[in-house]
Amino acid sequence: MTTTKPSAKLTTQGVVNTETPFDKRHCCWFCGEPSHVNFIFPPQPATVSEQKTKYLLLSCSHLTISVPCCGECQKLAAKAQVNNIWAVKDFVKKQLLKIYAKHLAIGVNWSKEELSSSEFEGGNFESFAKSAWFVYEVAKGRVSYTGWPLVANGVVLDDSVCEEEQSEAIFHFDGVAYPTVSAAIEHYGDIFLLDRGYVSAVLQYMANGNITEKSFAQTIRFCRLLVNATPKERKMAFLTLINSDDKHTL
Ligand SMILES: [Zn+2]
Repeated sequence: MTTTKPSAKLTTQGVVNTETPFDKRHCCWFCGEPSHVNFIFPPQPATVSEQKTKYLLLSCSHLTISVPCCGECQKLAAKAQVNNIWAVKDFVKKQLLKIYAKHLAIGVNWSKEELSSSEFEGGNFESFAKSAWFVYEVAKGRVSYTGWPLVANGVVLDDSVCEEEQSEAIFHFDGVAYPTVSAAIEHYGDIFLLDRGYVSAVLQYMANGNITEKSFAQTIRFCRLLVNATPKERKMAFLTLINSDDKHTL
């Protein structure tokens, strides 16, 4: 295909095909991977229960639209219990983050240089080292992909409805765009076996109302020092932290 899709084509079912920018014509709107299918939202009556469809049609702020996507994102998107396409995207990102947590952990635990060093040659990890960085970059790209503004019937759809509903905004850390700060905490908690509640509490203290990449990095560094600590030891460490100036030196 060498041209863009015809703009705002209205199908017989009342589904509006959104416009796809020329350079994105083979991309999944959710993750940027090659697109093979479409995702329709709100869903067509035949695909979900009548009652749910009615609710979605009434509460959804936009037309019934179709966006191009890959097979995996289509399946994930179908499970979202939300009422607009941008909230569906957030849901898909959170699922991708969970599914590819191990792939994303590669970039946290190794650098590209370390993986390409001769250390791995000939050993059991040689094939892992060869593909690891690529696998990490694909996962990072998919989770961080921002898509493009949706245009239906020649009009850009207003995504502010989603921003208003979201209590948390996208959080960027170490080159990955997490749908929320909580998703980032969850991800790092899983990689380093950290207690999420504890990470969250330390982050609140470190950030002092303004969560940044720096305060998040300080939090993870602090929590990793306590990986094998007992709950009591963690509590003591937290008390020591808030009674000292360690925050500025971590
Ligand atoms: Zn996708």
